[in-house]
Amino acid sequence: MIGTRPAGQHTVRRHNAALVLGAIADGPGTSRAGLSTATGLTKATVSSVVDRLIAADLVAEGEPERRAGPGRRGTVVSLSPTGPHGLGIEIGVDYLASCLVDLTGAVRFEEVRYADNRTPRVFQRVSAFLHKARKQAEALGISVGGVGIAVPGLVESGLVRLAPNLGWRDVDLADRLGETFTVANEANFAALAELWHGTALPDFVHVSGEIGIGAGIVLDRALFEGVRGAGGEIGHLPVAPDGPPCSCGANGCLERMAGQDEILRLAGAETVDDLFSALESGSAAALTAVSTAARHLGLGLSTVVNLMDVPAVVLGGTYARLEPWLREPLLAELERRVPSTTWSPVRVVPSALGTGAAVRGAACSVVRGILADPEHHLTTHWPSDQDARGR
Ligand SMILES: [Zn+2]
Repeated sequence: MIGTRPAGQHTVRRHNAALVLGAIADGPGTSRAGLSTATGLTKATVSSVVDRLIAADLVAEGEPERRAGPGRRGTVVSLSPTGPHGLGIEIGVDYLASCLVDLTGAVRFEEVRYADNRTPRVFQRVSAFLHKARKQAEALGISVGGVGIAVPGLVESGLVRLAPNLGWRDVDLADRLGETFTVANEANFAALAELWHGTALPDFVHVSGEIGIGAGIVLDRALFEGVRGAGGEIGHLPVAPDGPPCSCGANGCLERMAGQDEILRLAGAETVDDLFSALESGSAAALTAVSTAARHLGLGLSTVVNLMDVPAVVLGGTYARLEPWLREPLLAELERRVPSTTWSPVRVVPSALGTGAAVRGAACSVVRGILADPEHHLTTHWPSDQDARGR
């Protein structure tokens, strides 16, 4: 957008729409006059933008403004509860999840279905699951503004380069499923959901433990993805270089030593629920399994903290539920291996969103995209409006 020539009319309109909608999202229940003050735009410009946003059902008009003093009361506007929703789908190794959020990011429905996705039938299964989620949205009278898909793998420009736990290499989901999506790594979506709707910390590493271990690093309220988008692959940090083989082909990776499968194996538990029953009844095998995993996790995370100086660790996924048992051995390992903890301790907190973080992040990224560039949404969904007004 930055150039040496004056901005074109379309660029100005695009900028103004994003500015006004952003002010409405930040301060719901503001009048047009209030928006004019907040954005620095004239009241006439604000009104024209608001009218277009109302016509597209991105914004809804509410009650007259409540305030003391003389003068006409303006009508307040907020994000429309019936506006376009974001649909998130998560392809886990052993489950599929869906989540529908409104423009404020509030969850309208969510569903999880357990099934082993390490099968060539996974694409048919995802397609059917997506179709069902759309039907549910339709039944609720909700319009879907876009779909975000979270995958347990490395994604480059929408292409799943590698998802070792699913056995995927160079999978184009748009091509397989016949439509376009926002595709990203599940751990990155989970970290974003945590940033937007979770613990409210500005800097943290979100680490989630399922069969794989994923991490998303948030620095100064922004996702740090590394130079080529493949950063945060904490699951493949070596914690036991001569250890057992990992799905990635290396040995003794963190997820091989502290992932859900290894914890269950060491605890002699069949399922995650069995593990929690065993922990609650004080089973020595279960307690040892979790503290062993916690030490490996602390070993891996000490590398992250020493390298990046991240002040907080948010435990997500199954680790959020395991936090009461993971916490002490994990902190002990961090204190032992991170010299700076003597004067600046690292916080360890459970995720506020639990296992639903990644799918929520996928859904919220869709509405965040619409809020950041409403003009794009308007011109793709309301092209006649663009033509009628000219350029
Ligand atoms: Zn590995």
